Order: sequence, then structure tokens, then C-alpha cells
Amino acid sequence: MTDEAAQDANNCDSCSKEDCAAKSRLHHESDQEFKDRQALMERMCHIKHKILVLSGKGGVGKSTVSVNLAVSLALSGKCVGLLDVDIHGPSVPKMLGLEGELVTNNEGLIVPVELGDMKVVSIGFFLRNADDAVIWRGPMKIGVIKQFLKDVEWGELDYLVVDSPPGTGDEPLSVCQYLPDADGAVIVTTPQDVSVADVRKSINFCKQMHMPIIGVVENMSGFICPGCGERHDIFKSGGGERMANDMGVPFLGSIPIDPDMGRAGDDGIAYTKAFADSAGAQAFKDIVAAITGEE
Ligand code: ADP
Repeated sequence: MTDEAAQDANNCDSCSKEDCAAKSRLHHESDQEFKDRQALMERMCHIKHKILVLSGKGGVGKSTVSVNLAVSLALSGKCVGLLDVDIHGPSVPKMLGLEGELVTNNEGLIVPVELGDMKVVSIGFFLRNADDAVIWRGPMKIGVIKQFLKDVEWGELDYLVVDSPPGTGDEPLSVCQYLPDADGAVIVTTPQDVSVADVRKSINFCKQMHMPIIGVVENMSGFICPGCGERHDIFKSGGGERMANDMGVPFLGSIPIDPDMGRAGDDGIAYTKAFADSAGAQAFKDIVAAITGEE
């Protein structure tokens, strides 16, 4: 199929998928809301799989997991986009060394920054200064999130990884509402009880939103000493897996604490590519295999 034909096939007016939710207006929708939803669904139609990365709270490594999941998927040969809509902490540009890169507009659409074969868009690209705090009222934040989901020219992708805002408030809720056909959520936690308690809320949030749960990832799970090679459970370990089992959701795997992962994030280096032989990179490979169902 030519690019143009593929485009047509995914245009709502000429599309033959009669049961698609983009075909008809919902009873509570205004004309503009319907047009926006149709534009978003048309754009998303070109993307085979959409994965939301969520966490109960900040600081558990949600962005680190989003970035390395996207890079590992790309390394496994997939065509990947990474979208960072974590409005208060858009760390993806820094983690991938893309600070200061401008995303140009093309006929009103945001054109992703290309990093090798991966396409990247972050709200961080649009903040004038990386140190600026986002002080916006709720509706404005939701509007920006919606624009980032609707107005990006991704083209054809196998996977879109969305680094979503943490918690269970209005912002992650909007991401779930605007991407109703997402494959589901990957929920990131650390092993401590407090973090695990928050992630239970994220699981219940997804259930209420009818968002499938792809699985739970336990980050910062043990430390493998580079000197002696022994594993030390600094923050305990296994809490995420026990909680996932208790709540009847899949457990995707554990990622150890690796000082190189922290440094790579600070230095703008893709960890799973630069430290391909590390236990952390292997953990991401296993998680990717669990998500894609491919070895
Ligand atoms: P969140 O997105 O949940 O707020 P981040 O991904 O920004 O969290 O991670 C917080 C900090 O912890 C970052 O400095 C990151 O580099 C570091 N970090 C995350 N996971 C690991 C890990 N497994 N090993 C070492 N450092 C990590």
C-alpha cells in the first residue's frame, strides 16, 4: 500500500470500519469536541500499540522505565514513538540528551524529534526554561495534554509509549480518556510498602477507567554490587510482585538499582543501549518480551 493509500485507509470519512467509535458523535459531545476526538482517533489509527506508563506517585522511576522501555522496544526492531505528557516533570528530553532541541511545526502539527529510529515528543520541549515551573489551572493542563495526543505527526508506528502524569487525578484521567483504545497500562512501583500501597490505587483507577493493565514493574528492586556481584535488597524486594499477585494483575519484572542507570539519565544517555550487557538492560529486555509476547 502506498503512503497515500494508507493515509486514506485511516481517514475516518473513507474508512470502512463501521464499528469504530470515531464514526459517530457521542450524545454529550459538541461539534468541536467530536471533531477533536475524531482527529485524535485518526492519528492513533496509524499506531498499532499504545502503552501508558503510570505510577502511583512521582520518584519511583516512571520516566526512567518509559524511556528504557521505548529504547528497548526500538532495539528489538520495532518502530517506536515516545510521548512525554508528564506535565509537572517532563524529564524525557534530559534523559535522552535532547534538551534545547526544538520541535518544529508543520502545517499545525508537531513534528517529533528523531533519535535514531525513535520519535520523541515531550511537553518539556515547549517550556521556555527547563527550570520553569508549570503553573497552569486544570483545564489548561488538560488542553495541553489533549493537544499533545491529537496534534503530533507520528506517522506509522508499532508502539507508542506514553509517559503519563503520576497519581490518579485529572491529568492521568485525561490521558486514559483520550486514549480509550490503548493496549493498556504498565504500572511502575518500588518495593516499599508505601509505594506499593499507592500502586494499588493506580490499579483500581485503571479498573474504573476500563483501561486494561498490561502489568506491574518493580523498579529499584535490589542492588547488584558491581564489586562483588552480590545482590543487596536495599529497599526490600518482591513487594510489587506480591501486590500484583494479590490484585490479580500480571507482573512484568523487576529492575535493579544500577548507579549507571541514574548517571545515564543525568547525562542524557539511553541506558539500555549504552549498557546493553547490564542486568538492568536484561531486565528491560525481559519486560519487552513479556509485553510483545516475542522472545
Ligand atoms: P519518576 O518519573 O517516577 O518521577 P524518574 O524516572 O525521574 O522517576 O527517576 C527518579 C530518579 O531515580 C532519577 O534520577 C533516575 O535516574 C533514578 N532511577 C530510577 N530508576 C533507577 C534505577 N533502577 N537505578 C538507579 N537509578 C534509578
